[in-house]
Amino acid sequence: MPKVNKEKKHTHVSDQICLRAAVAVLVAYGREDLASVISATNPQPADVPTIEISSQTLNYNPEFIRSIGFTELVKVLAHEALHVTRDHTSRFYVCIDGFKEMFQRAADLEINTYLESTNIGAPQGIIPGKGEYASFPKHLTAEDYLPVLIKKDAAALEDNRIKPVPNGEQG
Ligand SMILES: [Zn+2]
Repeated sequence: MPKVNKEKKHTHVSDQICLRAAVAVLVAYGREDLASVISATNPQPADVPTIEISSQTLNYNPEFIRSIGFTELVKVLAHEALHVTRDHTSRFYVCIDGFKEMFQRAADLEINTYLESTNIGAPQGIIPGKGEYASFPKHLTAEDYLPVLIKKDAAALEDNRIKPVPNGEQG
């Protein structure tokens, strides 16, 4: 068991080196504002799907950050820093529970359309004008993407592409 712990510790150190290098790239891009948000956090391996900032902790899934490649890691860190600088947590807070997931998507659309127009570029994910979001206008705020998302989800329901849960199924 001590051997396993040593290995874990070692990979955690490697992750931290990669994260610091990615922050240095943000500085090189002239984005000290985003770099300083990441630098102020304490990176911790965590049981999360990808990566997220919670309070002053950068919770990351080690497998995720090791699998995406360094260029993508820079974009992903810029994306997470922008959730902080744009104060999305406070802006989510007013949303009723049923709309939280949708506001998160709206916030991601706001960030990724912005990042696409910078020298950093947008990470993989939901981007206005691309893929499933091809019809979405660019450069809106999360609040303005919300009604567009509601309309899209309603249209999807109409088309039966998303099946509603039948009534009474829970017994
Ligand atoms: Zn996001």
